[in-house]
Amino acid sequence: MSSQRLALRRVIKTRCPRCGRDIVVNVGPDILEEARRNPLGMAGVVELHGDHAAVVYIDRNGNERGVRVYSVLARGAEEYTVFTLPPAALEGFTNISGFSLTLKKLKMKIQAMLGEEGVFLHAVKGDAELMLDFKRDFEWGVVKRLAGVLVDTIDTSYSENPNDYLNAIRILDVILKEPNFLYSQEVFWLVTNASTLIVKTRLPEAMLFKKYRPSMLFERYDAHFLAEVADIPRENVAKLLKVGNPYAVYSRADALLAMYKRGIVDIEVVE
Ligand SMILES: [Zn+2]
Repeated sequence: MSSQRLALRRVIKTRCPRCGRDIVVNVGPDILEEARRNPLGMAGVVELHGDHAAVVYIDRNGNERGVRVYSVLARGAEEYTVFTLPPAALEGFTNISGFSLTLKKLKMKIQAMLGEEGVFLHAVKGDAELMLDFKRDFEWGVVKRLAGVLVDTIDTSYSENPNDYLNAIRILDVILKEPNFLYSQEVFWLVTNASTLIVKTRLPEAMLFKKYRPSMLFERYDAHFLAEVADIPRENVAKLLKVGNPYAVYSRADALLAMYKRGIVDIEVVE
């Protein structure tokens, strides 16, 4: 190993907010690389503490960005929590007819309307496994690429809320028709972590945003939603994405990222 790579390695010491145990994270090039690829510039490092697990978030510079405690991560190896969603969960879908998502790391399985036969696509990355069936034909390459981006993102997500993952499937349903959409990974990451993230408005940026209503955003997204976000000092991302319609979920997630990129809001991990 070169001295340059050694220089990248640093040790972070923090404490578990649940049990008070000391946590030591060796931040190596692999963690920094994951943070670099992540839309918000963060990588999660998991440590199991008996009946719970602590995830330490590390940013691109190797600094700690918060610790969050999860309950389901530490369950017994074979004990999966299965969420079988009712058909209504797929209301408004135009392309996907059923799905099953297995999250080995979180010991969770989320499924809706997937028959035993005729599974069209099976995508796997690390601890995430996705099976999809469709209402109509798609170009194989498009479906495979987008499903690949989704499982890749889910593999680095830690939300325990099945609705966050359902929202990601909703967005996949929408962008199958917009395969050239550039920010699919960022949008997927935001929604699959939505319950663990908060949006905080920045002042005076949010006030200027409301006053001048930049047309690049106000013509593209729901103006009421943009104004609502700019008005709230802080809010959970999952709450802001709580709409049933797949296109509305997609549009709101994309709008939040656009506000984040323009410095109108910050997005942070909830502790
Ligand atoms: Zn702990």
